[in-house]
Amino acid sequence: MEEVKQTKHKTHRWLIALAFVGLVFLSAGIVFLILALQTDFHIVSFRATRDVAYKSDYQPDPGEVCFGNLFYCDHVDFKADGDVNVEELGDYKVTFTFAHDDKTLSLEQNVSVKDLVPPVITIDDDNIAICAEDKVSKFKFSSIDDYDGDITDKATISYKAPNVEIVSTDQAGNRSTKTAPAATKDTTPPTITLNGSDKYTSPYGTPYNDAGAIATDNCDNEIEVKVDGTVNPFATGDYAITYTATDQAGNTATATRTVTVSTKIPQPTGNVIYLTFDDGPSEHTFRLLDVLKKHDVKATFFVIGHGSDEAIRRAYQEGHSIGLHTSSHTYSKIYQSESAFYADLDLIKDRVKRITGYTSTLLRFPGGSSNTVSRSYNRGIMSRLVRSATQKGYTYFDWNVSSGDAGGAKTADQVYNNVVSTLKKGNSIVLQHDTQGYSVDAVERIIEYGKANGYTFARLEPGFWGAHHGVNN
Ligand code: ZN
Repeated sequence: MEEVKQTKHKTHRWLIALAFVGLVFLSAGIVFLILALQTDFHIVSFRATRDVAYKSDYQPDPGEVCFGNLFYCDHVDFKADGDVNVEELGDYKVTFTFAHDDKTLSLEQNVSVKDLVPPVITIDDDNIAICAEDKVSKFKFSSIDDYDGDITDKATISYKAPNVEIVSTDQAGNRSTKTAPAATKDTTPPTITLNGSDKYTSPYGTPYNDAGAIATDNCDNEIEVKVDGTVNPFATGDYAITYTATDQAGNTATATRTVTVSTKIPQPTGNVIYLTFDDGPSEHTFRLLDVLKKHDVKATFFVIGHGSDEAIRRAYQEGHSIGLHTSSHTYSKIYQSESAFYADLDLIKDRVKRITGYTSTLLRFPGGSSNTVSRSYNRGIMSRLVRSATQKGYTYFDWNVSSGDAGGAKTADQVYNNVVSTLKKGNSIVLQHDTQGYSVDAVERIIEYGKANGYTFARLEPGFWGAHHGVNN
């Protein structure tokens, strides 16, 4: 009896334990079921940070969010808030809002617009050579970045036989590499570029100053240009000036300029200012020559029998035209008779010839061809002089722009205003006197005005248009 009772007691205890375990499982199951059936948002995939390429086509992308429970989950559409400017590098905040029934979920994403594209290297030269000391020849290539722009200058070039390697890295650190084969021997000659045209007409009797040439080379930095050939300004015809340049590797280039010495110079076209200075030289002439030289402007000097020979020599050597204005410039003397005029003109012609070697045929009558003062010395002399001067081979010049420096203008400002306010379309022959210091003072501003307003400057030549006045005597 005692034994049975004990067995019964044992079984009872097992049942209790089993029931307890069952209860635990049941409770856990219920809790699980409650949780599993509970509906809410579920983030399937979401990136809190996202990189977007500069200028790319940006579309908001929050990843995937669904709404549901363990057994089913429906995709939820989003609303994106926050602007992303792909044209500007930087960080942008975008808030994504998901709504389902009356529940909402907000997620914030940091979008970084970045330069993610490496530069594009292009080689435009199939003639890359290795120069002395294993240096690579200058060759044409470019490195263009979508954000930085042209970064060709920042590229590094190295020689890794038998190739040249270009490495270019943009500011964002995107790197490109490009290689090209290089020749071990430089066979490219220098390039010679002439200053000015390869055909030049040099006025008869005027010293020829060659404008020179520049040589560039794919290897060498400085290449000397050797100039050969001479021009005789007193013999008309064609002359060849030859330019030679040789690089370190021994490649030689040559170029030629044809210089034609001619008595017939074609008149320049367009709006041209001919600065002319009468009655010199004087103590102001050197200062005037300095200004003309500084601005590379050629002018015309109608000289008389006074002043320094050196001023005339320098004007001539620096490429200005030297014209004749009689030696004495004394009206009562020169307009007495035609023979008196030419005798006086010969004196200044001989002086110019003695100083420069040049026989000038450029003439300006004192007082101009329209002067009336000559009438009191010889009636009709101007009419006869303009005819005979032309027959003797002179080209005489009057003016169509007056500075007024022989009359009303007494300051540089007045001279400047008189000249620039009366400049003409086409040819402007300007009358000034380099014996007047204030008139010389106005020249630099006149040049600057002319150059800024589309005018060119030239010297007068035989045969040019002369702005002839009406003859009054
Ligand atoms: Zn004069």
